Amino acid sequence: MERYSEITNKNKREIVLLKSFPCKWGKCSFCDYILDNSNSEEEINKINFEVLENITGKFKVLEVINSGSCFEIPIKTLEKIKEIINEKKIEKLFLESHWAYKNRLDEMREFFGIEIIFKSGVETFDNDFRNKFLNKNANFKDYKEFKNYFDSPCIMVGIKGQTKEMIDNDIDIILNNFNHATVNVFVNNSSEIKRDNELVSWFVEKYKFLDNIDHIEVLYNNTDFGVGD
Ligand code: SF4
Repeated sequence: MERYSEITNKNKREIVLLKSFPCKWGKCSFCDYILDNSNSEEEINKINFEVLENITGKFKVLEVINSGSCFEIPIKTLEKIKEIINEKKIEKLFLESHWAYKNRLDEMREFFGIEIIFKSGVETFDNDFRNKFLNKNANFKDYKEFKNYFDSPCIMVGIKGQTKEMIDNDIDIILNNFNHATVNVFVNNSSEIKRDNELVSWFVEKYKFLDNIDHIEVLYNNTDFGVGD
């Protein structure tokens, strides 16, 4: 499992995939990365401290992800991240959180004291598909409500059951209303949810221009940021 990488094409930054306590929700139908979660604080911190040693601060920007929300990262790890941020003069931090923590985001902003770009897994702005099919439990009405809290939506494309119209609408929203967004092309995993290869081919062809758009990052494989397995 790779846990440290450098993103060097768009929005240059270092990225670490940390271990954390179990995802508070843990029931999204497409998710199997919660298998990386642990209940052992000692084990989590030990692994995280080793991973964090790789950070050089060379881009002044760091992204911290875990298989869940940043609020599930133990405090000792958070304190270590803060220490490194100060030491390496990091100016911007990307963090990720589920909608359930939307009212707590300022806690992280105050704790770290630097600019934070908050990402969140929207998967799609189609409310039915997101909450009924993907079981995301992220109950916002529209992108405007989401944007009241978060800076950067993560969208998922290429799932069986998803339509081209849903994807067109999602891409239109992220292109025109957010300063940063990520598109994850769905890759089959151990969950019941399946990839629609025809839909993926259509997406890749129609939206290849996204590769040249600075504020949209497309992950064709879930290891494209260089972390994960
Ligand atoms: S919130 Fe994220 S980590 Fe938790 S179950 Fe859903 S996709 Fe998985």
